[in-house]
Amino acid sequence: MAEHFDVVIVGGAAIGSAAAYFLAAHADFGGSILVLEQDLSYQKCATTLSAASIRHQFSTPGNIRMSQFGTEFIRSIGTTLAVEGEAPDVGFIEGGYLFLATAAGADVLKANHGVQTALGADIALLSAEALGTRFPWLDTADLAGGAYGLSGEGWLDAYALLRSFRRKAVSLGVTYRQARAAGLSRAGHEIVAVELADGTRVACGTVINAAGTGAPALARAAGIDLPVQSRKRCVFHFTSPARLPDCPLVIDPSGAYFRPEGTGFICGIAPPEADDPECFDFDVTHALFDEVLWPTLAARVPQFEAARLQHAWAGHYDVNTLDHNAIIGAHPEVANLLFANGFSGHGLQQSPAVGRALAELVAHGAFRTLDLSAFGWQRVLENRPLLEINVV
Ligand SMILES: Cc1cc2nc3c(=O)[nH]c(=O)nc-3n(C[C@H](O)[C@H](O)[C@H](O)COP(=O)(O)OP(=O)(O)OC[C@H]3O[C@@H](n4cnc5c(N)ncnc54)[C@H](O)[C@@H]3O)c2cc1C
Repeated sequence: MAEHFDVVIVGGAAIGSAAAYFLAAHADFGGSILVLEQDLSYQKCATTLSAASIRHQFSTPGNIRMSQFGTEFIRSIGTTLAVEGEAPDVGFIEGGYLFLATAAGADVLKANHGVQTALGADIALLSAEALGTRFPWLDTADLAGGAYGLSGEGWLDAYALLRSFRRKAVSLGVTYRQARAAGLSRAGHEIVAVELADGTRVACGTVINAAGTGAPALARAAGIDLPVQSRKRCVFHFTSPARLPDCPLVIDPSGAYFRPEGTGFICGIAPPEADDPECFDFDVTHALFDEVLWPTLAARVPQFEAARLQHAWAGHYDVNTLDHNAIIGAHPEVANLLFANGFSGHGLQQSPAVGRALAELVAHGAFRTLDLSAFGWQRVLENRPLLEINVV
Protein backbone atom coordinates (compact mmCIF):
# COMPACT_ATOMS: atom_id res chain seq x y z
CA MET A 1 0.00 0.00 0.00
CA ALA A 2 1.29 3.51 -0.85
CA GLU A 3 2.52 5.74 1.92
CA HIS A 4 0.08 8.57 2.74
CA PHE A 5 0.64 12.18 3.88
CA ASP A 6 -2.08 14.75 4.39
CA VAL A 7 0.04 17.40 2.68
CA VAL A 8 2.93 16.84 0.26
CA ILE A 9 5.02 19.91 -0.52
CA VAL A 10 7.14 19.64 -3.67
CA GLY A 11 10.22 21.87 -3.29
CA GLY A 12 11.79 22.49 0.10
CA ALA A 13 13.54 25.85 -0.33
CA ALA A 14 12.22 29.21 0.96
CA ILE A 15 8.59 28.87 -0.15
CA GLY A 16 8.22 25.15 0.52
CA SER A 17 9.90 25.35 3.92
CA ALA A 18 7.93 28.46 4.93
CA ALA A 19 4.71 26.63 4.02
CA ALA A 20 5.86 23.55 5.97
CA TYR A 21 6.60 25.65 9.06
CA PHE A 22 3.40 27.72 9.03
CA LEU A 23 1.27 24.65 8.43
CA ALA A 24 2.96 22.57 11.13
CA ALA A 25 2.58 25.49 13.55
CA HIS A 26 -1.06 26.14 12.62
CA ALA A 27 -3.44 25.61 15.53
CA ASP A 28 -6.19 24.23 13.27
CA PHE A 29 -4.04 21.73 11.38
CA GLY A 30 -2.95 18.47 12.91
CA GLY A 31 -2.14 16.43 9.80
CA SER A 32 1.06 14.91 8.44
CA ILE A 33 3.40 16.88 6.14
CA LEU A 34 6.04 15.59 3.73
CA VAL A 35 8.46 17.90 1.92
CA LEU A 36 10.00 16.43 -1.23
CA GLU A 37 13.22 18.17 -2.21
CA GLN A 38 15.30 16.87 -5.11
CA ASP A 39 18.54 18.43 -3.81
CA LEU A 40 18.93 18.91 -0.09
CA SER A 41 22.25 20.71 -0.64
CA TYR A 42 20.17 23.58 -2.13
CA GLN A 43 23.16 24.66 -4.25
CA LYS A 44 21.20 25.56 -7.37
CA CYS A 45 17.89 26.85 -6.09
CA ALA A 46 16.90 30.49 -6.45
CA THR A 47 16.71 30.91 -2.68
CA THR A 48 20.41 30.20 -2.17
CA LEU A 49 21.54 32.15 -5.24
CA SER A 50 19.40 35.21 -4.61
CA ALA A 51 20.43 38.75 -3.74
CA ALA A 52 18.41 38.21 -0.55
CA SER A 53 16.92 41.65 -0.23
CA ILE A 54 13.57 42.90 0.97
CA ARG A 55 11.79 46.04 -0.14
CA HIS A 56 8.44 47.70 0.39
CA GLN A 57 8.80 49.71 -2.80
CA PHE A 58 6.44 47.87 -5.13
CA SER A 59 3.57 49.27 -7.16
CA THR A 60 1.14 46.43 -6.32
CA PRO A 61 -0.48 46.78 -2.87
CA GLY A 62 -0.41 43.01 -2.27
CA ASN A 63 3.35 42.90 -2.86
CA ILE A 64 3.88 45.76 -0.42
CA ARG A 65 1.78 44.03 2.24
CA MET A 66 3.57 40.71 1.76
CA SER A 67 6.96 42.37 2.19
CA GLN A 68 5.79 44.32 5.22
CA PHE A 69 4.86 41.02 6.85
CA GLY A 70 8.21 39.64 5.70
CA THR A 71 10.03 42.40 7.57
CA GLU A 72 7.94 41.92 10.69
CA PHE A 73 8.60 38.18 10.60
CA ILE A 74 12.33 38.53 10.00
CA ARG A 75 12.72 41.08 12.80
CA SER A 76 11.35 38.57 15.31
CA ILE A 77 12.70 35.39 13.74
CA GLY A 78 15.05 34.72 16.66
CA THR A 79 12.04 34.08 18.87
CA THR A 80 9.55 32.66 16.38
CA LEU A 81 11.83 30.06 14.81
CA ALA A 82 13.96 29.22 17.86
CA VAL A 83 14.47 25.49 18.37
CA GLU A 84 15.43 24.13 21.80
CA GLY A 85 16.41 27.60 22.93
CA GLU A 86 18.69 28.19 19.93
CA ALA A 87 17.74 31.43 18.21
CA PRO A 88 18.37 31.63 14.45
CA ASP A 89 20.14 34.70 13.11
CA VAL A 90 19.54 35.64 9.49
CA GLY A 91 21.80 38.72 9.67
CA PHE A 92 19.09 41.19 8.69
CA ILE A 93 20.62 44.57 7.78
CA GLU A 94 17.90 47.19 7.54
CA GLY A 95 19.85 49.31 5.03
CA GLY A 96 16.91 50.48 2.87
CA TYR A 97 16.35 50.62 -0.88
CA LEU A 98 16.95 53.74 -2.91
CA PHE A 99 15.04 53.92 -6.21
CA LEU A 100 16.48 56.68 -8.40
CA ALA A 101 14.53 58.45 -11.15
CA THR A 102 15.30 60.82 -13.98
CA ALA A 103 12.65 63.34 -15.05
CA ALA A 104 11.11 60.62 -17.25
CA GLY A 105 10.49 58.34 -14.25
CA ALA A 106 9.59 60.97 -11.66
CA ASP A 107 5.80 60.65 -12.00
CA VAL A 108 5.87 56.87 -11.63
CA LEU A 109 8.17 57.17 -8.60
CA LYS A 110 5.76 59.63 -7.03
CA ALA A 111 2.66 57.56 -7.81
CA ASN A 112 4.28 54.41 -6.37
CA HIS A 113 5.34 56.38 -3.31
CA GLY A 114 1.72 57.37 -2.78
CA VAL A 115 0.58 53.72 -2.87
CA GLN A 116 3.42 52.64 -0.56
CA THR A 117 2.97 55.31 2.09
CA ALA A 118 -0.83 54.86 2.10
CA LEU A 119 -0.07 51.32 3.29
CA GLY A 120 2.25 52.59 6.01
CA ALA A 121 5.57 51.96 4.25
CA ASP A 122 8.32 54.17 5.67
CA ILE A 123 9.57 55.65 2.39
CA ALA A 124 10.87 59.20 1.88
CA LEU A 125 10.69 60.97 -1.45
CA LEU A 126 13.93 62.94 -1.92
CA SER A 127 14.70 65.69 -4.42
CA ALA A 128 17.93 65.50 -6.40
CA GLU A 129 19.39 68.09 -4.06
CA ALA A 130 18.40 66.13 -0.95
CA LEU A 131 19.88 62.99 -2.52
CA GLY A 132 23.18 64.79 -3.03
CA THR A 133 23.24 65.89 0.59
CA ARG A 134 22.28 62.51 2.04
CA PHE A 135 24.45 60.42 -0.32
CA PRO A 136 27.32 62.72 -1.38
CA TRP A 137 29.01 59.84 -3.25
CA LEU A 138 26.16 59.70 -5.82
CA ASP A 139 26.28 61.57 -9.11
CA THR A 140 22.84 63.19 -9.18
CA ALA A 141 23.32 65.42 -12.26
CA ASP A 142 20.72 63.60 -14.40
CA LEU A 143 18.32 62.76 -11.56
CA ALA A 144 14.97 64.27 -10.63
CA GLY A 145 14.84 62.46 -7.29
CA GLY A 146 14.67 59.19 -5.44
CA ALA A 147 12.57 57.14 -3.04
CA TYR A 148 14.42 55.90 0.03
CA GLY A 149 13.28 53.27 2.52
CA LEU A 150 13.91 54.70 5.98
CA SER A 151 13.08 51.45 7.77
CA GLY A 152 11.82 47.95 7.03
CA GLU A 153 13.85 47.36 3.86
CA GLY A 154 17.26 45.70 3.63
CA TRP A 155 19.02 42.38 3.09
CA LEU A 156 19.70 39.15 4.90
CA ASP A 157 21.25 35.70 4.64
CA ALA A 158 18.82 33.76 2.41
CA TYR A 159 20.28 30.35 3.16
CA ALA A 160 20.00 31.03 6.89
CA LEU A 161 16.32 31.92 6.41
CA LEU A 162 15.68 28.68 4.51
CA ARG A 163 17.51 26.65 7.18
CA SER A 164 15.62 28.36 9.99
CA PHE A 165 12.24 27.58 8.45
CA ARG A 166 13.31 24.02 7.78
CA ARG A 167 14.79 23.35 11.21
CA LYS A 168 11.68 24.66 12.93
CA ALA A 169 9.40 22.69 10.60
CA VAL A 170 11.32 19.48 11.34
CA SER A 171 11.13 20.20 15.08
CA LEU A 172 7.34 20.41 14.66
CA GLY A 173 7.17 16.98 13.02
CA VAL A 174 7.55 17.71 9.28
CA THR A 175 9.32 14.99 7.25
CA TYR A 176 11.88 16.07 4.62
CA ARG A 177 12.94 13.59 1.97
CA GLN A 178 15.47 13.95 -0.83
CA ALA A 179 13.42 12.84 -3.83
CA ARG A 180 12.21 14.25 -7.13
CA ALA A 181 8.49 14.43 -7.79
CA ALA A 182 8.29 13.10 -11.33
CA GLY A 183 4.53 12.99 -11.78
CA LEU A 184 1.11 13.49 -10.28
CA SER A 185 -1.78 11.01 -10.39
CA ARG A 186 -4.96 12.90 -11.11
CA ALA A 187 -8.43 11.45 -10.73
CA GLY A 188 -11.01 13.91 -12.01
CA HIS A 189 -10.61 17.18 -10.13
CA GLU A 190 -8.21 15.79 -7.57
CA ILE A 191 -4.57 14.76 -7.22
CA VAL A 192 -4.52 11.41 -5.46
CA ALA A 193 -0.78 10.71 -5.35
CA VAL A 194 2.64 12.12 -6.09
CA GLU A 195 4.86 9.84 -8.17
CA LEU A 196 8.54 9.90 -7.28
CA ALA A 197 11.39 9.51 -9.76
CA ASP A 198 12.29 6.11 -8.24
CA GLY A 199 8.82 4.82 -9.12
CA THR A 200 7.27 4.96 -5.63
CA ARG A 201 3.96 6.71 -5.00
CA VAL A 202 2.94 8.86 -2.08
CA ALA A 203 -0.81 9.21 -1.60
CA CYS A 204 -1.84 12.68 -0.48
CA GLY A 205 -4.66 14.92 0.65
CA THR A 206 -3.21 18.18 -0.70
CA VAL A 207 -0.15 18.95 -2.86
CA ILE A 208 1.69 22.26 -2.74
CA ASN A 209 3.72 23.15 -5.81
CA ALA A 210 6.72 25.07 -4.41
CA ALA A 211 9.13 23.81 -7.05
CA GLY A 212 10.45 27.18 -8.28
CA THR A 213 11.60 26.83 -11.88
CA GLY A 214 10.54 23.16 -11.69
CA ALA A 215 6.94 24.26 -11.13
CA PRO A 216 5.74 24.28 -14.79
CA ALA A 217 6.80 20.62 -15.23
CA LEU A 218 4.88 19.63 -12.11
CA ALA A 219 1.85 21.62 -13.28
CA ARG A 220 1.99 19.87 -16.67
CA ALA A 221 1.88 16.53 -14.86
CA ALA A 222 -1.56 17.60 -13.63
CA GLY A 223 -2.57 18.80 -17.10
CA ILE A 224 -2.17 22.48 -16.21
CA ASP A 225 -0.24 25.05 -18.19
CA LEU A 226 1.60 27.35 -15.75
CA PRO A 227 2.88 30.54 -17.48
CA VAL A 228 6.26 30.49 -15.74
CA GLN A 229 9.70 30.41 -17.34
CA SER A 230 13.19 30.03 -15.96
CA ARG A 231 15.23 33.15 -16.75
CA LYS A 232 18.90 33.61 -15.89
CA ARG A 233 19.99 36.41 -13.54
CA CYS A 234 23.67 37.03 -12.75
CA VAL A 235 25.06 38.56 -9.58
CA PHE A 236 28.54 40.10 -9.46
CA HIS A 237 30.55 40.62 -6.29
CA PHE A 238 33.16 43.36 -6.42
CA THR A 239 35.42 45.23 -4.07
CA SER A 240 36.31 48.87 -4.32
CA PRO A 241 38.25 51.40 -2.28
CA ALA A 242 35.01 53.41 -2.31
CA ARG A 243 33.66 54.31 1.10
CA LEU A 244 29.91 54.81 0.87
CA PRO A 245 28.52 55.46 4.35
CA ASP A 246 24.90 54.29 4.86
CA CYS A 247 24.83 52.81 1.37
CA PRO A 248 21.37 51.35 0.71
CA LEU A 249 20.42 48.96 -2.10
CA VAL A 250 20.47 51.43 -4.97
CA ILE A 251 18.35 50.94 -8.10
CA ASP A 252 19.66 53.08 -10.93
CA PRO A 253 17.15 54.39 -13.52
CA SER A 254 18.83 51.98 -15.98
CA GLY A 255 17.65 49.04 -13.87
CA ALA A 256 21.15 48.25 -12.57
CA TYR A 257 21.32 47.67 -8.81
CA PHE A 258 24.08 47.48 -6.22
CA ARG A 259 24.28 47.09 -2.47
CA PRO A 260 26.94 46.48 0.18
CA GLU A 261 27.88 42.85 0.85
CA GLY A 262 30.53 42.17 3.48
CA THR A 263 33.52 44.38 2.72
CA GLY A 264 32.47 44.83 -0.91
CA PHE A 265 29.32 45.14 -3.00
CA ILE A 266 27.07 43.00 -5.15
CA CYS A 267 25.36 44.20 -8.30
CA GLY A 268 23.23 42.99 -11.17
CA ILE A 269 20.84 43.96 -13.95
CA ALA A 270 18.17 42.12 -15.92
CA PRO A 271 19.14 41.55 -19.55
CA PRO A 272 16.97 43.28 -22.16
CA GLU A 273 13.66 41.41 -22.71
CA ALA A 274 14.70 40.48 -26.27
CA ASP A 275 17.84 38.81 -24.91
CA ASP A 276 16.23 37.00 -21.98
CA PRO A 277 15.19 33.54 -23.21
CA GLU A 278 14.10 30.61 -21.10
CA CYS A 279 17.33 29.20 -19.75
CA PHE A 280 18.48 26.52 -17.31
CA ASP A 281 22.30 26.77 -17.43
CA PHE A 282 24.38 28.46 -14.76
CA ASP A 283 27.00 30.11 -17.01
CA VAL A 284 27.74 33.68 -15.92
CA THR A 285 27.23 36.32 -18.60
CA HIS A 286 30.47 38.21 -17.90
CA ALA A 287 29.79 40.79 -20.60
CA LEU A 288 26.99 42.14 -18.40
CA PHE A 289 29.51 43.30 -15.84
CA ASP A 290 32.21 44.52 -18.23
CA GLU A 291 29.99 46.21 -20.79
CA VAL A 292 26.91 47.31 -18.84
CA LEU A 293 27.21 47.25 -15.07
CA TRP A 294 30.67 48.65 -14.50
CA PRO A 295 30.27 51.68 -16.78
CA THR A 296 26.76 52.33 -15.45
CA LEU A 297 27.74 52.09 -11.80
CA ALA A 298 30.93 54.12 -12.29
CA ALA A 299 28.85 56.88 -13.87
CA ARG A 300 26.50 56.84 -10.87
CA VAL A 301 29.22 56.45 -8.20
CA PRO A 302 32.49 57.83 -9.59
CA GLN A 303 34.45 56.00 -6.86
CA PHE A 304 33.42 52.72 -8.54
CA GLU A 305 35.88 53.45 -11.37
CA ALA A 306 38.30 51.39 -9.29
CA ALA A 307 35.96 48.41 -8.84
CA ARG A 308 37.54 44.93 -8.90
CA LEU A 309 35.35 41.96 -9.75
CA GLN A 310 35.85 39.17 -7.18
CA HIS A 311 33.40 36.53 -8.25
CA ALA A 312 30.02 36.06 -9.89
CA TRP A 313 27.21 33.54 -10.03
CA ALA A 314 24.07 32.86 -12.03
CA GLY A 315 20.68 31.76 -10.73
CA HIS A 316 17.18 31.66 -12.19
CA TYR A 317 14.08 33.72 -11.63
CA ASP A 318 10.80 31.83 -12.01
CA VAL A 319 9.28 34.53 -14.20
CA ASN A 320 5.51 34.76 -14.54
CA THR A 321 5.37 35.77 -18.19
CA LEU A 322 1.89 37.27 -17.78
CA ASP A 323 2.62 39.93 -15.17
CA HIS A 324 5.76 39.31 -13.07
CA ASN A 325 3.70 38.46 -10.02
CA ALA A 326 3.24 35.29 -8.02
CA ILE A 327 0.47 32.79 -8.73
CA ILE A 328 -0.91 31.63 -5.40
CA GLY A 329 -3.66 29.10 -4.74
CA ALA A 330 -5.58 26.35 -6.54
CA HIS A 331 -6.39 26.13 -10.24
CA PRO A 332 -10.18 25.86 -10.66
CA GLU A 333 -9.81 22.44 -12.29
CA VAL A 334 -7.86 20.80 -9.46
CA ALA A 335 -8.98 21.74 -5.97
CA ASN A 336 -6.23 20.08 -3.92
CA LEU A 337 -3.16 21.28 -5.86
CA LEU A 338 -1.99 24.63 -4.48
CA PHE A 339 0.45 26.74 -6.47
CA ALA A 340 3.02 29.20 -5.13
CA ASN A 341 5.10 30.03 -8.17
CA GLY A 342 6.15 32.71 -10.62
CA PHE A 343 7.74 34.99 -8.02
CA SER A 344 9.76 36.77 -10.72
CA GLY A 345 12.59 37.86 -8.44
CA HIS A 346 10.77 38.73 -5.23
CA GLY A 347 9.93 35.39 -3.67
CA LEU A 348 12.44 35.33 -0.87
CA GLN A 349 10.98 38.36 0.88
CA GLN A 350 7.49 37.02 0.24
CA SER A 351 8.19 33.58 1.67
CA PRO A 352 6.87 34.32 5.19
CA ALA A 353 3.61 35.83 3.88
CA VAL A 354 3.15 33.14 1.24
CA GLY A 355 3.97 30.32 3.66
CA ARG A 356 1.35 31.67 6.06
CA ALA A 357 -1.19 32.09 3.25
CA LEU A 358 -0.69 28.50 2.03
CA ALA A 359 -1.17 27.22 5.59
CA GLU A 360 -4.47 29.13 5.76
CA LEU A 361 -5.61 27.69 2.44
CA VAL A 362 -4.92 24.17 3.69
CA ALA A 363 -6.35 24.65 7.18
CA HIS A 364 -9.37 26.81 6.33
CA GLY A 365 -9.77 26.71 2.55
CA ALA A 366 -9.48 30.53 2.51
CA PHE A 367 -7.09 33.35 3.32
CA ARG A 368 -7.50 34.53 6.91
CA THR A 369 -4.85 37.25 7.40
CA LEU A 370 -3.66 38.82 4.13
CA ASP A 371 -6.17 38.36 1.32
CA LEU A 372 -3.99 37.23 -1.58
CA SER A 373 -6.84 36.35 -3.94
CA ALA A 374 -5.62 39.01 -6.42
CA PHE A 375 -2.64 36.67 -6.97
CA GLY A 376 -4.88 33.70 -7.83
CA TRP A 377 -5.35 31.77 -11.07
CA GLN A 378 -8.43 33.73 -12.11
CA ARG A 379 -6.49 36.66 -13.55
CA VAL A 380 -4.20 34.24 -15.41
CA LEU A 381 -7.09 32.35 -16.98
CA GLU A 382 -8.84 35.60 -17.92
CA ASN A 383 -5.58 37.10 -19.22
CA ARG A 384 -5.96 40.06 -16.83
CA PRO A 385 -2.40 40.94 -15.77
CA LEU A 386 -1.84 42.23 -12.23
CA LEU A 387 1.11 44.22 -13.45
CA GLU A 388 3.99 45.02 -11.13
CA ILE A 389 5.79 48.11 -12.40
CA ASN A 390 8.78 47.97 -10.04
CA VAL A 391 10.48 44.90 -11.45
CA VAL A 392 14.16 44.55 -10.56
C1 LIG B 1 19.98 36.14 -8.85
C2 LIG B 1 18.71 36.20 -8.06
C3 LIG B 1 18.48 37.29 -7.23
C4 LIG B 1 17.32 37.34 -6.45
N1 LIG B 1 17.15 38.37 -5.57
C5 LIG B 1 16.06 38.39 -4.76
C6 LIG B 1 15.92 39.39 -3.78
O1 LIG B 1 16.79 40.24 -3.62
N2 LIG B 1 14.81 39.38 -3.01
C7 LIG B 1 13.83 38.42 -3.16
O2 LIG B 1 12.83 38.47 -2.44
N3 LIG B 1 13.95 37.46 -4.09
C8 LIG B 1 15.04 37.41 -4.88
N4 LIG B 1 15.17 36.45 -5.82
C9 LIG B 1 14.05 35.52 -6.03
C10 LIG B 1 13.99 34.48 -4.94
O3 LIG B 1 15.25 33.90 -4.75
C11 LIG B 1 12.96 33.42 -5.32
O4 LIG B 1 11.74 34.04 -5.71
C12 LIG B 1 12.66 32.51 -4.16
O5 LIG B 1 13.85 32.04 -3.58
C13 LIG B 1 11.81 31.38 -4.65
O6 LIG B 1 11.78 30.38 -3.67
P1 LIG B 1 11.19 28.98 -4.06
O7 LIG B 1 11.27 28.15 -2.83
O8 LIG B 1 9.87 29.17 -4.72
O9 LIG B 1 12.14 28.44 -5.24
P2 LIG B 1 13.59 27.82 -5.20
O10 LIG B 1 14.47 28.48 -4.22
O11 LIG B 1 14.08 27.76 -6.61
O12 LIG B 1 13.31 26.37 -4.70
C14 LIG B 1 12.60 25.41 -5.43
C15 LIG B 1 13.05 24.06 -4.92
O13 LIG B 1 12.26 23.05 -5.53
C16 LIG B 1 13.09 21.96 -5.80
N5 LIG B 1 12.42 21.18 -6.87
C17 LIG B 1 12.13 21.61 -8.13
N6 LIG B 1 11.46 20.68 -8.81
C18 LIG B 1 11.34 19.62 -7.95
C19 LIG B 1 10.74 18.34 -8.08
N7 LIG B 1 10.12 17.96 -9.21
N8 LIG B 1 10.80 17.49 -7.02
C20 LIG B 1 11.41 17.86 -5.86
N9 LIG B 1 12.01 19.07 -5.70
C21 LIG B 1 11.95 19.93 -6.72
C22 LIG B 1 14.40 22.57 -6.22
O14 LIG B 1 15.49 21.66 -6.04
C23 LIG B 1 14.49 23.76 -5.28
O15 LIG B 1 15.22 23.49 -4.10
C24 LIG B 1 16.33 36.32 -6.58
C25 LIG B 1 16.56 35.24 -7.42
C26 LIG B 1 17.74 35.16 -8.14
C27 LIG B 1 17.98 33.97 -9.03
